[in-house]
Amino acid sequence: MITKTDFMYGWQCHKLLWWRRHEPDAVELQPDRVLQDLFDQGNLVGALARERFAGGVLIRHEASRVERVRLTADAIVAGAKVVFEGAFIADGVFVAVDVLVRGDEGWHLIEVKSASGQKDQHIPDAAVQAWVLSRNGIVLSRIDIMHLNRAYRHPDVGDLFARTDVSADVTRIVGEMPELTSRQLQVLDGPLPDVRIGRHCFEPYDCPFMKRCWPQDPHHISRLYNVGPVKAAGYMAAGIHRIDDLAPDAKLPWAARRQLRALASRRLIVEPTLTGALDAFDAGPLGFLDFETVSRAVPVWPEMAPWQHAAAQFSYHESKSDGTYRHAAHLAEGPQDARPLVAERLVEETRHAVRVVTYSAFEKTQIRALAAAVPSLAVELRALEEKLIDLLPVVRDNVYHPDFLGSFSLKSVLPALVPDVTHSDLVIVNGLTASVEIARLLFVADRIPRDERQRVRKDLLDYCERDTWGTVRLLEVLRAMAG
Ligand code: SF4
Repeated sequence: MITKTDFMYGWQCHKLLWWRRHEPDAVELQPDRVLQDLFDQGNLVGALARERFAGGVLIRHEASRVERVRLTADAIVAGAKVVFEGAFIADGVFVAVDVLVRGDEGWHLIEVKSASGQKDQHIPDAAVQAWVLSRNGIVLSRIDIMHLNRAYRHPDVGDLFARTDVSADVTRIVGEMPELTSRQLQVLDGPLPDVRIGRHCFEPYDCPFMKRCWPQDPHHISRLYNVGPVKAAGYMAAGIHRIDDLAPDAKLPWAARRQLRALASRRLIVEPTLTGALDAFDAGPLGFLDFETVSRAVPVWPEMAPWQHAAAQFSYHESKSDGTYRHAAHLAEGPQDARPLVAERLVEETRHAVRVVTYSAFEKTQIRALAAAVPSLAVELRALEEKLIDLLPVVRDNVYHPDFLGSFSLKSVLPALVPDVTHSDLVIVNGLTASVEIARLLFVADRIPRDERQRVRKDLLDYCERDTWGTVRLLEVLRAMAG
């Protein structure tokens, strides 16, 4: 038997499906905090969606699949107008439908998604359900994806949910379901299938088994700067698997050309233009800023949209006349709107800086969002925005080290250029985990033991500080190179 979830993995890749079913305890499949948070938010969205349908009968997950199918049949025979999580089996495929609403001309199938729009992958997801239901004699009159509404603003501007009618799209592919599902069942009965790597490894979701399938070769074509999954798959289809396979006259961005030179010579490349590019960083006092944000499917603070990011933490270093730096940090506490205090502390700490260095444009977007959310400090925040100066383009346009592996993210650049600043001793090492941990501290602190709360706060403060300190040191190293 395969479930709808299995089917969707198999839709992406048979090898992925096979591993998930044959190695359910694989280390790649163990949910980390980020994945668990996604599940939790999906469950919350599902529960809120059910509140939109009065008098529904919920088929509980705890029962066995066969029992759930029986309970669903009983509810339908008893005349239920709405069924939640109704379970059905046909030809070795098990599905549980989020919402089924009885209508005059048939049932209305509603698949609930926590995304803020209808996505391509929702069509096969709904189609396999529609097919299993049709095999059970259920006539469907309409199929909708019920997703979060990106125009919604908390708490009461618009509706949290929007629906997209996908009946026609589903009808178009539902006839393929018998063959697709029986092929998946055959694959599961056989040995590990041989599937070549390609675009499907990233679409619709990043495959957790990438490290098993993709070469770790630093010269692999997927390591070329500015090559995403689509371009990498295109290169591989054309027989170009390594960066060295590229034709000498291949059209590439300048940073990629510099990468080719660095790989060929196996050394760091520094352009003479670096000196001039650093002129803008000469003014002092010079600040260095990094934000961490929270992003919730169902927004909790005023005027926020689903999944919108809101600054809840920052780290700030500022140069002093004696050549040292002062450090300031802020991390929100409690479930109330964090943005007014973040904005206030930020304005206060950055007041004397002539320029404020960031690494990427993300901080600019967050300062703009703060100005909109905290109108009383909008003027000061706009003034801060004017001071921002981004170091990332300076690195991208002037420097390449073979160890960058095609990326100019701070986590790729620091180990190569500033080995004394490492993230390897930290508990939190990426922004996604930081975001989920902040959300835990803010919104479910009562479920976390006090000791753990303090430890996580310290981990978050350490992580954010390391990013601004890394930027400080990176600028120092770049200046030395330019010199
Ligand atoms: S990395 Fe690609 S080929 Fe390998 S299992 Fe995942 S999707 Fe399939």
